[in-house]
Amino acid sequence: MTKNNFKLNYIKCPNCKNILDLTDVARGCPNPLCQFSFKGLEALLVKNNSELHKAILSAYKGNDERKIKLLATAVRNYIAVYLANFIQYAWGSQMQRLFKNFIILYLDDLNALQIVLKSKVIKPDKDNTVISKNNYKIFPELYNYLMRVHSTEIRNFLRLEFPKLYRDWYKKMHERSIKPIISNQSRLV
Ligand SMILES: [Zn+2]
Repeated sequence: MTKNNFKLNYIKCPNCKNILDLTDVARGCPNPLCQFSFKGLEALLVKNNSELHKAILSAYKGNDERKIKLLATAVRNYIAVYLANFIQYAWGSQMQRLFKNFIILYLDDLNALQIVLKSKVIKPDKDNTVISKNNYKIFPELYNYLMRVHSTEIRNFLRLEFPKLYRDWYKKMHERSIKPIISNQSRLV
């Protein structure tokens, strides 16, 4: 695993989206209308990804809403680490799980994505690397993966930052969605 240079030094309150310094966590969310308690978060921040995933499944099973929010906060704190690992060690089955269990659902912090796309985990001199005007780097296969994340903010950024890749992606999606209709029609004729 890539070490902590991708670990974010802040968390977002899962209730009000306030950005908090990690050292403020002990005091709880400072927003007087929210006051979410982060008690228990520190223990979650040292868990590895498979432990976190197991804990998330069990929190959902037990309908433990506060625990679910704490776990999501821990995952989001590591989301840039997961993404960097996914890129570096892709595309084995363990990395696919990382994508499916965490990145697709919890990557919703533009800053986390931008840190990774500006970092050395994407080599600028590879043939298929695309560098945007603002110096973000990506390559088509990664682009197509990231266009699957649930966050519209992330997908909007990718659309605007990499217009050519977006057009290719869009064309591919469009072709995929109209193919069955065409083949049905040709059968009818
Ligand atoms: Zn809050």
